[in-house]
Amino acid sequence: MTARSCGSCTLCCKVMAIEELAKPAGSWCRHCKPQQGCRIYDERPPECRRFDCLWLTDERFGPHWKPNKSKLVLTSSEDGLEIRCDPGFPNAWRREPLLGEIRNLAAAGEAHDVTVLAIAGSRMILVTSEREFDLGKIGPDERIVRELEGNRVVGARVVRSSGSTRD
Ligand code: SF4
Ligand code: SF4
Repeated sequence: MTARSCGSCTLCCKVMAIEELAKPAGSWCRHCKPQQGCRIYDERPPECRRFDCLWLTDERFGPHWKPNKSKLVLTSSEDGLEIRCDPGFPNAWRREPLLGEIRNLAAAGEAHDVTVLAIAGSRMILVTSEREFDLGKIGPDERIVRELEGNRVVGARVVRSSGSTRD
């Protein structure tokens, strides 16, 4: 746990999709006052209350990762770590020292089957210690299947929940 606070950051209210508000990913929530906060904070939907910003809680991510500075919102998923770019900065995750740290996290996660995904708009990129797999847009009925040699990821593809590979 950290003693961090959002301050003037409001980036999650732009980057994340909020189903309960029919708010798409990548556009400002109508209730957000950018750089100031949520206009309906006390009545914000449960989805917003449950949002878990890793920058606020995980000390592995230093001050330079603060979302309004890095242009990246960090969350965890069932499979690992998700790094979402502010749509105006789709290559924000490629800047150093961030990319080096992302690769180190990917390397540390490989032994524990943890995946690291960079998400830029609708594009998802699986990042490993050695390379990147640009998987394009992944639908809700699709999932990533990795090909492993030991702990090394040597391939990745997207399959439908039915098990068929995407065209
Ligand atoms: S992205 Fe994180 S630090 Fe920024 S406003 Fe959201 S919860 Fe706060
Ligand atoms: S309702 Fe508030 S907390 Fe939720 S996305 Fe909108 S501005 Fe952010």
